Amino acid sequence: MNWISDWALPKISGLFKRDVPENLWHKCPACEQMIFRRDLEAALHVCPHCGHHMRIAAVRRLEITLDPGFSRIELPRAPADPLRFRDQRRYADRLKEAQVKSAMDDAVAVAHGAIDGQRAVVAAMEFAFMGGSMGAGVGEAIVTAAKLAVLQDAPLIVFTASGGARMQEGAVSLMQMPRTVIASRMVKEAGLPFIVVLCDPTTGGVTASFAMLGDIQIAEPGAMIGFAGARVIEQTVREKLPEGFQRAEYLLEHGILDMVVKRGEMRATLARVIGLLRVPLLPSAEVPPAIEEEPPPSPPPAEETTAPAQG
Ligand SMILES: [Zn+2]
Repeated sequence: MNWISDWALPKISGLFKRDVPENLWHKCPACEQMIFRRDLEAALHVCPHCGHHMRIAAVRRLEITLDPGFSRIELPRAPADPLRFRDQRRYADRLKEAQVKSAMDDAVAVAHGAIDGQRAVVAAMEFAFMGGSMGAGVGEAIVTAAKLAVLQDAPLIVFTASGGARMQEGAVSLMQMPRTVIASRMVKEAGLPFIVVLCDPTTGGVTASFAMLGDIQIAEPGAMIGFAGARVIEQTVREKLPEGFQRAEYLLEHGILDMVVKRGEMRATLARVIGLLRVPLLPSAEVPPAIEEEPPPSPPPAEETTAPAQG
């Protein structure tokens, strides 16, 4: 209530105010070094000092994975707030806020295009959207991506990042587990590769459903992957958990993953994997000539020909 704090200090600080954007620098959460934001962007949000892979937005993920010119698809709208759920705030309000903040309808972005010239459908989860939690919207997005992959005869690649089921949707969110499992099945039954890239963090209902069903299981370095949290497990089993428990490298060592791939090498790796899994179409000149079969010596006996079904 004195003139120094009310009048003089604001005036003085006003004199020294410079036009520096607030977020020009970013502090690495792992090594705490300051990184120039433009450098961080160029390094795909991987710390140039310690190699820590920071979380990135789903839309950015699509951009760095697919060739330029890909198209994002509009996802069918899922019933919003089926239970009219309310905790401290209404779920409908939380949902709206997340939608405005992220400019997404729900926690998944889906696009189709090519990876190094090879057709692909890519779905990327957005952790910033309510912790990447899986409700009806996410389930719908995964099903849509799977259908699109089948329709386009393209492999499906899903980048996961999720805290698990969306509690606010209760049983409806749990139903997305079998739904997404069936979606992944659809892709496999069509003979198409289903590739999962587990990003930090992938937990709960997503880990317990489609995220563990990839033909190839890839993860980013240091990604936290598990079902329940380490603390909960430690309290339940009353044992100290090993070093690096639930981290990508630990899971690779124990056979849960096929590969741990740095973000900078992800695109090339995916292209290579798709190339290995898909049979290349032979140019018409290289198609082996059809073997000429001799015509059958005599027409088949009359009784063996298919007669119209009776009765
Ligand atoms: Zn760092």
